[in-house]
Amino acid sequence: MAAAAVQDQSYPDIREAVRGLCAGFDSAYWQRVEEQNAFPEAFVQALTQAGWLSALIPEAYGGSGLPLSAASVIMEEINRSGGNSGACHGQMYVMGCLLRHGSEAQKRRWLPAIASGELRMQSMAVTEPTTGTDTTKLKTTAVRRGDKYVVNGQKVWISRVQHSDLLLLLARTTPLDQVKRKSEGLSVFVVDLREAFGRGLTVRPIRNMVNHETNELFFDNLEVPAENLVGEEGQGLRYILDGLNAERILIAAECIGDGYWFTERASGYARERVVFERPIGQNQGIQFPIARAYCNVEAASLMRYKAAELFDAGQPCGKEANIAKLLAADASWEAANACLQTHGGFGFAAEYDIERKFRETRLYQVAPISTNMILSYVAEHVLELPRSF
Ligand SMILES: Cc1cc2nc3c(=O)[nH]c(=O)nc-3n(C[C@H](O)[C@H](O)[C@H](O)COP(=O)(O)OP(=O)(O)OC[C@H]3O[C@@H](n4cnc5c(N)ncnc54)[C@H](O)[C@@H]3O)c2cc1C
Repeated sequence: MAAAAVQDQSYPDIREAVRGLCAGFDSAYWQRVEEQNAFPEAFVQALTQAGWLSALIPEAYGGSGLPLSAASVIMEEINRSGGNSGACHGQMYVMGCLLRHGSEAQKRRWLPAIASGELRMQSMAVTEPTTGTDTTKLKTTAVRRGDKYVVNGQKVWISRVQHSDLLLLLARTTPLDQVKRKSEGLSVFVVDLREAFGRGLTVRPIRNMVNHETNELFFDNLEVPAENLVGEEGQGLRYILDGLNAERILIAAECIGDGYWFTERASGYARERVVFERPIGQNQGIQFPIARAYCNVEAASLMRYKAAELFDAGQPCGKEANIAKLLAADASWEAANACLQTHGGFGFAAEYDIERKFRETRLYQVAPISTNMILSYVAEHVLELPRSF
């Protein structure tokens, strides 16, 4: 296909291998898991066993130690195949906080097991119902009592908890009115979910627009061993923010994969669908929205590589990672609309997968960071405009 021929061919071996694996999880598979509102367990297992989800774990801890640019290609290919990386991307990047800020003992305890798939660490609990994006105001507390911390509070939209063994939790350890800067006094913990369920942690699933396992969490005197504190007490927000560039770049790659999927589907249909005795793709009114979306996906992809290369070189990449996420989420959403419109009524039929992918890619305008928050970051930190909040 023409679009495939001109598509970026970086990491061709990885692309081919991931495509091969994804070919075993076709449209019927993704439709079935959605109909059953189920977790795509077989798909996540297959990716884990093939080692793709441990791409970012260094070889010394059992992973393959690939650069982030290569990891981004894995995510891109999953979404480009028609699948949804949202079911598994957490296993790739949540451990980054532990890798960068955990003690050697913690890394030896958890990373090899995460790399082998014996343990899943694919959940991170930051968002709360009453404080939302205003993270420094979060109300969940962790109070030290002897060799434990006691956690109380509530989180919302916490993904994959029912399919994870470990959860990374951000909680306040020093009250807001006792810290010099509001970003201090928050700490990160590894919560062993197998011990926590029913012993201070209650999970309530949230039915939502996509087949995405996400939950409300209620902490009622949950005890977490003090040895599960990651890094220094009070520095947790810094640790979480530190991992967000990797997350933004990987999510951008997923959007890019979606963008290619939509533009390829739209072009294929437009070539074949005949109305008024000619292919609809002969009309420029059909061609141009697809072509424009494709241009934007290509541009977003370049920004993804720029951000990933800086990240891999250990350089600051906040600006590039945020811009890549914004451009990629906008491009995939534009491509989704062009694809749906090209398919006319058939775009609404579940068997074409377009309405499912349309809903899935829409999420990335909101999570894991909303478009406005990225614009606010660029305005303040890049363009030096006055702080608005
Ligand atoms: C399916 C799904 C999965 C998720 N998974 C996780 C997860 O695993 N872990 C986790 O911690 N969180 C998760 N989230 C939460 C997600 O990160 C948040 O929904 C997102 O960051 C927005 O926060 P909020 O919903 O509280 O919106 P709010 O903070 O209430 O904001 C609502 C809207 O107002 C805008 N807004 C707010 N303040 C301003 C301002 N000053 N200027 C301009 N606009 C503003 C926001 O951009 C947003 O569009 C998930 C969310 C969803 C929907």
